[in-house]
Amino acid sequence: MSICVVGHSNPDTDSVTAAIAFAHLLKAQGQDAVACMQINADKLNPESKTVLEKFGLAAPQELMDVAGKKVALVDFSDIGQAPANIGDAEVVAIVDHHKIGDITTNNPILFNAQPVGCTGTVLNQMYKINNVAIPKDIAGGMLAAILSDTVNFKSPTCTDADKAAVAELKVVAGVEDTDGLFMDMLKAKSAVAGVPMKDLVFRDYKDFDMKGNKIGVGQLELATLDQVADIRDDLYKMLQEVKAEGRHSVLLMLTDVVKEGTDLMVVSDDASIIEGAFGAKLDGVSMWIDGMMSRKKQTVPNLQKAFGC
Ligand code: MN
Ligand code: MN
Repeated sequence: MSICVVGHSNPDTDSVTAAIAFAHLLKAQGQDAVACMQINADKLNPESKTVLEKFGLAAPQELMDVAGKKVALVDFSDIGQAPANIGDAEVVAIVDHHKIGDITTNNPILFNAQPVGCTGTVLNQMYKINNVAIPKDIAGGMLAAILSDTVNFKSPTCTDADKAAVAELKVVAGVEDTDGLFMDMLKAKSAVAGVPMKDLVFRDYKDFDMKGNKIGVGQLELATLDQVADIRDDLYKMLQEVKAEGRHSVLLMLTDVVKEGTDLMVVSDDASIIEGAFGAKLDGVSMWIDGMMSRKKQTVPNLQKAFGC
C-alpha cells in the first residue's frame, strides 16, 4: 500500500510543497509514496497555484478521507487539521515545525519536528542527511514555502536554519531573486483585479463597539499600494455606503506589506478622533501610518484609547 503524504486542512504553500517534497524523498528511498492534499486543485489558494505553475509542479492528489490508509503527515500533527478518519489510518511518519499535536501512534515512527520557520527547512535537512538530490522543481517549491511561512524572513518564527535553507535551495532551483519570488507570491495572494469593491472591503473586516459607537475596520494586505491606485475612489464610495448603514466610522487599512505601513482610509462622523488616535492628519481621504501592520495589535487598541474605552 502506498503512503499518502498529506499536509493540514485548508492547505498553504508549505503543506502543498512539503507533501510533494516528502513523497519524492520517500520514493527515492524505495518506498511507495504519493503526494496528497486536503482540497481540490481548483480550490488551492492563489499563492500556492502561482508557486506550482512557476516551478512546473503537479498539484498533489485530493485526499479527504484516510480510513484504512497509510499516511505520512507534513506541516501538522493535530487531529483537528487531519483528513477524516485519521483514527482509522496508520500514521507512519510526521515532519513538522509546529508544537506537537494530539495524533498518537501504536508503533514507533519517523518523527521529525523542529522549531524552525517552515517544513521545507526540515525536509531540506532530511534530503541532505539521506544523500538524496532535490530535483530543481521541488527545490523551487520548498524555497517558495520557506519565503511564504517566514514572510520573507520577517516573521518572528524565522531562524538561521531557514535562511541557510533558502541560500541552498535557490541555487538548486535556479532562482536568483528570492525577493522577487516573494513579491510575485504576495501579489498573487493579494490580487484585487476584478474583485467587487464590497468583497474587498469585507475580505478581512470586523465591527467594534467603542463607547456605543459602531466602528468598522477592514484590512487589505498589499504587495504595493499601486495595486489599488485605480480603485481608490470606488473603495471610498463603498466605505461611505457601509458607514451609512449606521456606523460612526469605517476604516480601511491599505497595508503595504513590503514598506511595512498602512494607508488608512477613513469615513467618520468625527475624523478628528481618528486622527488623534494615530497622531496623524488626513491627506484627502486617507493618511499614511508608518509601521501599522496589525489591526488587532495596533489599530484597534489605539482607537479604543481615543474613544475612551
Ligand atoms: Mn502550514
Ligand atoms: Mn508550515
